[in-house]
Amino acid sequence: MATQEPGTTQLTPDPLDSALAPLADAFGDRLLTPASAEFAEVATVFVGGPERTPAAIARVRTTEEVVAVLAVARETGLPLAVRGGGHHQARHGLVDGGLVLDLRLMDGVQIDTEARVGHAQGGVLAGTYTAAAGAQGLATGFGDTGTVGVGGITLGGGIGFLSRHDGLTVDNLLGAEVVLADGRVVEANADENPDLYWALRGGGGNFGVVTRLDLRLREIGTITGGMMMWEPAPAALTTVLRAFAEGPDEFAGMVNVMIAPPAPMVPVALQGKPVIMALLVHSGTAAEAAEALAPLRALGPVLDGVQEMPYPAMFEGAGGPPSGAVGDARSGFLGTGAWSPDEAWAAAAIDAVSTAGGPAALNIRAMGGAIGRVDPAATAFAHRDPAFMVTVYKGAPTVEAFSAASAWVASTAEALGVSERGYVNFMGTATEQDVRNAYPEATLERLREVKREYDPNNLFASNHNVRP
Ligand SMILES: Cc1cc2nc3c(=O)[nH]c(=O)nc-3n(C[C@H](O)[C@H](O)[C@H](O)COP(=O)(O)OP(=O)(O)OC[C@H]3O[C@@H](n4cnc5c(N)ncnc54)[C@H](O)[C@@H]3O)c2cc1C
Repeated sequence: MATQEPGTTQLTPDPLDSALAPLADAFGDRLLTPASAEFAEVATVFVGGPERTPAAIARVRTTEEVVAVLAVARETGLPLAVRGGGHHQARHGLVDGGLVLDLRLMDGVQIDTEARVGHAQGGVLAGTYTAAAGAQGLATGFGDTGTVGVGGITLGGGIGFLSRHDGLTVDNLLGAEVVLADGRVVEANADENPDLYWALRGGGGNFGVVTRLDLRLREIGTITGGMMMWEPAPAALTTVLRAFAEGPDEFAGMVNVMIAPPAPMVPVALQGKPVIMALLVHSGTAAEAAEALAPLRALGPVLDGVQEMPYPAMFEGAGGPPSGAVGDARSGFLGTGAWSPDEAWAAAAIDAVSTAGGPAALNIRAMGGAIGRVDPAATAFAHRDPAFMVTVYKGAPTVEAFSAASAWVASTAEALGVSERGYVNFMGTATEQDVRNAYPEATLERLREVKREYDPNNLFASNHNVRP
């Protein structure tokens, strides 16, 4: 990094070298710059997009190292990004020309079977935690994908297979260790820093680096789960969505209206064609599951992989677009309470994906149940009444085609009545309007107050930013 003036033997210190000097010795090869061999791989996040090259990446292993990285960011003024599982569609884990605090080496999990609490370090992935808890017959609900970071999904909300029964992941966050912008290490829970604890449960990475999450565990044995797929008939879509909305809290999942991939389990005749694909979990008894699944099986699925299995098996496959795929996504909500859409809506949804011209999908996740029984003011995730969360996704073949994908996403969401207000964890852009869509006015005002107290200089800005 240091440069040598031509014709002289004197070395001019590179300003970046000087800035990073406090970290260099302690981090060794865990401090990466674009010249490092591993840089390109470490600087990749799940979703692709326009070039975003950090000046350096610090791969932290301890809370003390997090404190040290934040000190460098404060003192140098380098823009900071905090990277967990790297799955956010808006690529918050990368900052151009700035410093990335990469949490992935902080991947320890401790399962306290007696207290029924799981302790996850800040960089643990959902699949890693779920496997460790599952080995003890326990679980905390996250989403439906094992490669998503526990930190990112929890701080935004966490809508998944167990949410209708146990609430969102935020509803099961009992406490956290947080490194604040000024370097203090604090606990946030119902008794200590309760305002910070409230803000962490939906306010994203705005308030500090979470180095430990304490999560409530529930008992879980064998579940009935897996994938089902149908040809794109509107009745198939309405039946699955009705089964979620009107079914027991134990039954939940996600339905995709999508173009079938060329995967070995997909019948060849359907590959590249629109299909309806559901990932389902019933956490009750086998007999209760069979009853809930009966109307879905009566539709004659072309693929039925739903069977009894240990809960962690649901997290073993990869999900979503391949790493590095470029595309835009927007989230919003549909309906309230036990409402579900009619066949005209389902036909329009199938038609939108079928005529999108390229990779496109609607992911519809079941809400309701225990999610809706929590007071909207109890956590910074305030959207408690929706029946479904919908993500409208369109891939783009190149970075240049991104704006066309965004336009399709916006018009499709509008045509299908997907709400403007949405879920912060599934927003492909991070404008001020997106932030207003993620939080009702009163929630956003309260988040700003907490931000002013804990991060008045907005050190944590690479997120859906709550300005102090
Ligand atoms: C394939 C796929 C499937 C998904 N499925 C679901 C689902 O079923 N349900 C659901 O609710 N969501 C789902 N999501 C969305 C997911 O919850 C968000 O993308 C989430 O933000 C990812 O967290 P991450 O740690 O992997 O990502 P990152 O991009 O690393 O982080 C996201 C944000 O959280 C912050 N952050 C992460 N960890 C910490 C920490 N320890 N301390 C402070 N800040 C932190 C980052 O700074 C960033 O602002 C899915 C996303 C993808 C791509």
